[in-house]
Amino acid sequence: MTDRYLRHNLIDWFDQELVKSLNILVVGAGAVGNEVIKNLVLLGVGAIRIVDFDRIEIHNLTRSVLFTEGDVGRNKAEAAAEAAQRLDPACRVEAIVGDFWDRISFGQLQESSVVFSCVDNFDARFRINRLCSLLGVDLINAGIDSRFASAEIFPFMRDSDSACFECNLPPSTYQRVADRYSCGWLRKVAYEERKIPTTAITASYAGAMATSLLLYSFRDDMEGGARRVFLDTITSNVSKAILPRNPACPCCATHFPRRTILQAQRIITSGLPWPQPASDLTVTCSDPILVSWETPHCATCSSRPSVPVFDLAANYDESHAMCSNCGLKQRLAVIREQFTVSELMERFSGRPLPGKFAFFVHEGTQVIVELMERDHD
Ligand SMILES: [Zn+2]
Ligand SMILES: [Zn+2]
Repeated sequence: MTDRYLRHNLIDWFDQELVKSLNILVVGAGAVGNEVIKNLVLLGVGAIRIVDFDRIEIHNLTRSVLFTEGDVGRNKAEAAAEAAQRLDPACRVEAIVGDFWDRISFGQLQESSVVFSCVDNFDARFRINRLCSLLGVDLINAGIDSRFASAEIFPFMRDSDSACFECNLPPSTYQRVADRYSCGWLRKVAYEERKIPTTAITASYAGAMATSLLLYSFRDDMEGGARRVFLDTITSNVSKAILPRNPACPCCATHFPRRTILQAQRIITSGLPWPQPASDLTVTCSDPILVSWETPHCATCSSRPSVPVFDLAANYDESHAMCSNCGLKQRLAVIREQFTVSELMERFSGRPLPGKFAFFVHEGTQVIVELMERDHD
């Protein structure tokens, strides 16, 4: 190791080679993401992949150490990657612009030593947790508000029985996620994400706590399992908690211990794009699917009582429930996540199966199929 790490080398347990070997995915390059990326680069992590769909606004500059005024309007992932690269040109930094759910492949997740969740809403946290827990990739989650900073580690790779992020959440959290949607998973018109009041203080604490969870997780004397550090930045009180697994968890309780992962084209053909499961098997989709609009009571539109859709429900909002013929808001959205194999083949053959992945259970193994575009790109 070069002189760059002289002071790290003085720490008897600091394994610079191990840190160098890490390949880290950071989801969210906002206030906490900035801090985490800065810490990872300075620690000497070998590779960092940064994903964010958002652009920099002037008010981000009060707590984003990697951004300057000249960056306003740029994509957060790209600006953060450039700044990280300036901090250490030897670090391999990659920016991915877009939503991680669409842009990050199973392969990219599986080659990550750990995923940092630095996002600002529960919907995204749920999705990151779902993928990491299914694929067995260690997850570190960081969160802030104006007063508190928290960091949690879910070592899914190192401990197959680890609790997940959803195992210990209060029901109020689900209400906040539900607030984003009208009934049935159509997006609410003009829903505005709750803005989190915060400062650079909680962001830097959370970034430091999250990064130290990573660093200290390699120590031999570290306890295993999921755990949380919670800091009150006003009183300086810190609490630690071991996070137990919840057998009724809405997320990980449905994961089978035996899981296998495949890639397949999303087009549904006469033979399904994955090893032929029995026709009465149930396929569960990763995302709610709007199957059709139904107008059972509209006399004007009785000629078209059912309009097939078969697309992500998230692509539609309440305004689409308006009947395009008579203008009455009375169309019913038929939204489903489960289909039998024979139903997919008979009703939806030739169509792309929407969503990130689908799964079914075959002989006690949960078969998770990542849905790819035609070119497997
Ligand atoms: Zn869970
Ligand atoms: Zn109508």
